[in-house]
Amino acid sequence: MKQSAPARALNGGPIAEEIRREVAEETARLWQEHQVKPCLAAVLVGDDPASAVYVRNKVRAFAELGLRSEHQALDSSTTTEQLVSLIRTLNARDDVDGILVQLPLPQGIDEATIIEAVDPLKDVDGFHPVNVGLLAMGRPRLVPCTPAGIIELLDRSGIAIEGAKACVIGRSQIVGRPVSQLLLQRDATVTICHSRTVDLAEVTRQADILVAAMGKPGFIKGEHIKPGATVVDVGINRITDVAQARSLFGSETDERIKAIERRGYTLVGDVHPAEADAVAGRRTPVPGGVGPLTVAMLLRNTVGSARRRRGL
Ligand code: NDP
Repeated sequence: MKQSAPARALNGGPIAEEIRREVAEETARLWQEHQVKPCLAAVLVGDDPASAVYVRNKVRAFAELGLRSEHQALDSSTTTEQLVSLIRTLNARDDVDGILVQLPLPQGIDEATIIEAVDPLKDVDGFHPVNVGLLAMGRPRLVPCTPAGIIELLDRSGIAIEGAKACVIGRSQIVGRPVSQLLLQRDATVTICHSRTVDLAEVTRQADILVAAMGKPGFIKGEHIKPGATVVDVGINRITDVAQARSLFGSETDERIKAIERRGYTLVGDVHPAEADAVAGRRTPVPGGVGPLTVAMLLRNTVGSARRRRGL
C-alpha cells in the first residue's frame, strides 16, 4: 500500500536553531547569575579532512553562541600515552567543562583507552562507560549527541514516541545502541536490527518510527517502510556517481547531479529518498535532517556539564 501524498520533510535546521537559542539564553543566565562561561576542549588527532571539518564547525558554533572553546590539534604520530596525558591535563583544569576527542582516531591509538580517560563529568560526547551505563539503567546524564538530537527532532515535530513501535537499524555505540535506549526510556517498543538480522524488511515494516543508522547509501527502500511511518535517516554517505544519483533522488535528481558536477559528490542517507517518500509519512532529509541537531546537542551537553560540575 502506498501513501497518497509524498512524505513531508522533517527538517532539523529550524529545530537546531531553536535549541541554539535556548542554549544562548541559558549561557547568558549562567554568566549573569554565577559568572560561569562554559568551555569545550576539542581534540583532533591526525589529518583526516572530514574530522577537521567537524571540529571546525563545532568550535565555530561555540564561538557564535558566546561559549568558550579551545582546539588542540595533535599530529598522527601521537601515541595513546601522549593523548591520555593531554586528557588528564584537561580533566584537571577547572575552566574546562567538556572534552571532545574527535573520532575516529588514527590507527595505533587505542580508542577505548582514550574514551575511558575522559572525566565522565566532562564527557560531552556521552561515550564513557559510566555515561553509557547510566543510560542503559534508564538514568541518562550525558547522552551521545546524535541520538539525543533524534529524540528532540521527534518531540519538537509532534511525533509520539510513547507506545510507538520503533525499529533502529544499526547497533553502534555512537548511534544505534544509544538511540534504542533513549526510545525505550520514552516507552517505545523497540526492535534493534543489524547485519545478521534475518528478513530485515519484514521486521522494519512493523515500525511506526524507523531509524536507519547503517552507513549504506540508499539501502532502505519502500519495501522496508510501513505506510505513513516516520523515517529518521541518520546515514551520511557521499556518492560521486551520476547514474546512482539518478536512481535515488526523484524530483531532486537534476539538483543532485549539478552538485556532483560542481564539487564531485552529493550526500545521501541510508534511506532511498524517492522510494521512501512514496510510502513514509515523514522523512528526515540528508543533508538537513538529523545532522544539524548533533552540534546543537553538543552545545547543550556542555552547558549542562558546566552547571552539573558546579552543583548549579
Ligand atoms: P557503524 O558502521 O558503526 O554501524 C553500522 C551498523 O549498521 C552496524 O551495527 C551494522 O551491523 C549495521 N548494518 C550494516 N549493514 C547492515 C545491513 N545490511 N542490514 C542491517 N544492518 C546493517 O556506523 P555508525 O553507527 O557510526 O554510523 C551510521 C551512519 O550514520 C553512517 O552513515 C554515519 O556517517 C552516520 N552518522 C551520522 C551522524 C549525524 O550527525 N547525522 C553522526 C554519526 C553517524 P553489525 O553491528 O552487525 O555490523
